Amino acid sequence: MAISTKDLQRLFVLIADDIAAQRDHLCELDGVIGDGDHGLAMDAGCEAAAKAVGALDPAQTAPTAAFNAAAKAFLNAVGASSGPLYATAFMRAGAAVKDKSDLSDDDFLRAFAAMAQGIQERGKAEPGEKTMVDTWRPAADAALAPASGTSLSEALDMAERAAHQGSEATRNMTAAKGRASRLGERVIGHIDPGAASAAIIIASIAKFARQHDG
Ligand code: ADP
Ligand code: MG
Repeated sequence: MAISTKDLQRLFVLIADDIAAQRDHLCELDGVIGDGDHGLAMDAGCEAAAKAVGALDPAQTAPTAAFNAAAKAFLNAVGASSGPLYATAFMRAGAAVKDKSDLSDDDFLRAFAAMAQGIQERGKAEPGEKTMVDTWRPAADAALAPASGTSLSEALDMAERAAHQGSEATRNMTAAKGRASRLGERVIGHIDPGAASAAIIIASIAKFARQHDG
């Protein structure tokens, strides 16, 4: 079944709820290798995005405009580096589904992959540099890998698993981007907060797809 703007409203609420539940944990992770605000930043951004998308009239609003509203709200709500990174992600998702009134499974997967690409290009981080890219890149690759005939929820379950692994793998990395890059070897042994929040968001997206498929 196609994914409508009304479905996206539900998706953004799911993401905001799951991030809110992990807010303190994300701040703790950022407290170790950053400045301790990552949970607050992601909570504020996701909450603002959910509110902005929820305020739209789904009968009058195409998915691309919903993603753009999320991008703008996220950017305005967040002063930390995650602000422009996720704003770019949502803008790219919107651009990937331009002119569609409903999203097919393929459209949705293209939007998902565009988020990863947007984050990577905006932050100029490569996998292995201990950032959210270490979660997003393998997740997008996993979502796009399966042969046709795979359901949306199956593709996103694979993305969720890849995201989890990617996030865990940041534990053994030193950081080449962001605040943590100033700490050298001292960040080894600690998960990157942006990688952790990305895994939460991707798990929320997979949960949304399971509910939608089921
Ligand atoms: P700030 O570092 O400004 O306080 P946040 O705490 O919101 O921002 O986010 C920190 C996270 O942002 C890091 O854990 C990392 O995953 C991510 N990050 C930082 N710089 C980059 C970058 N250039 N590319 C991708 N992700 C980045
Ligand atoms: Mg921070």
